[in-house]
Amino acid sequence: MITPWEVSEDIDYKKTMEQFGIKSIKELLDDIENPHHFMRRGIIFGHRDFGRIINSINENKKFAVVSGMMPSGKMHFGHKMIIDQLLYYQKHNAEIYIPIADLEAYWARGMDFETTKNLAIEEYITNYIALGLNPDKINIYLQSKNESVKDLAMKLSKRVNFSEMKGIYGFGGETNIGHIFAPIVQVADILYPQLNEKIPTIVPVGIDQDPHLRLTRDIASRANKTKEFNFMPPSSTYHRFMTGLSGGKMSSSKPETAIFLSDTPSKSLKKKIMSSKTGGRETLEEQKKLGGTPENCVVYELFVYHLIDDDKELKEIYDSCKGGELLCGSCKKNCYEKIKEFLTDLGEKRECAKEIAMQIV
Ligand code: SF4
Repeated sequence: MITPWEVSEDIDYKKTMEQFGIKSIKELLDDIENPHHFMRRGIIFGHRDFGRIINSINENKKFAVVSGMMPSGKMHFGHKMIIDQLLYYQKHNAEIYIPIADLEAYWARGMDFETTKNLAIEEYITNYIALGLNPDKINIYLQSKNESVKDLAMKLSKRVNFSEMKGIYGFGGETNIGHIFAPIVQVADILYPQLNEKIPTIVPVGIDQDPHLRLTRDIASRANKTKEFNFMPPSSTYHRFMTGLSGGKMSSSKPETAIFLSDTPSKSLKKKIMSSKTGGRETLEEQKKLGGTPENCVVYELFVYHLIDDDKELKEIYDSCKGGELLCGSCKKNCYEKIKEFLTDLGEKRECAKEIAMQIV
């Protein structure tokens, strides 16, 4: 079962798409003038109604992006994927909404409001700005302080019953009522940009968040049957999860699997990358003879997701790995050098970004 709170490490993306009616992004690529490299490279693999967003981009019409955050520990390269997508949409003049899910953190994780707020500012918003998001053009808010969102959640809660919530999220008898209500607040977060005006809205997420999208689309349709609301069901895109350095999922709670955005170049970071799981062969001779398998390589994945923009450069690495000319040792060193450069630059920007972040929420 896939829920927003629990994700299996072996997700069959194809099966999940078929099961829940998610369409492949490939069919739309030709309509997008300048697709994000996540789209070109199949990292964003699926969508619901993304055509509406493409139309808005192509016709320079208003649209919104909603990307909530529930801060929990340090941000890593997996989290960076969301910021990269927000940057793309900001370049296309989207209105960006970033709800900080402090209510959900309180109900579902037992985190107090002050801790969530501080973590959101010092770690998350700071990195969002340091990575290039224009702070003057984003709407960031704490769920607990946004009265409009809370009022909307109250009203929309009438449009769904407990059996349905249990069916979607698998709540058990021990689940607290706040935790059960949390998804309704998220529904309100997603529909909030349309409170005064019906506009296309895109929610870029990992597949684990799809239950929220299905619920939001259902509730929006039901709410539209009354005269009170007129929502456009939100569009969504789905991206793959990043593999951790040792295989499995990249996770903040397992530091050995992750490269954190606040990491600084060091011997231990280099060691972590040099001992990461690759698609290399058992011996040097075998690798030269048979070539490596970049498809199963964490280092290559880092290049594809984050470190190499140029498709030509990426293809050269792929081909020379396959052909046995490129060996894992030098490839990993190259990876570390690129990460070092990235983290040094980000570290410098984060100092200034933190001061801005403190003034935002
Ligand atoms: Fe991965 Fe590079 Fe080794 Fe190929 S050569 S398997 S891309 S680390």
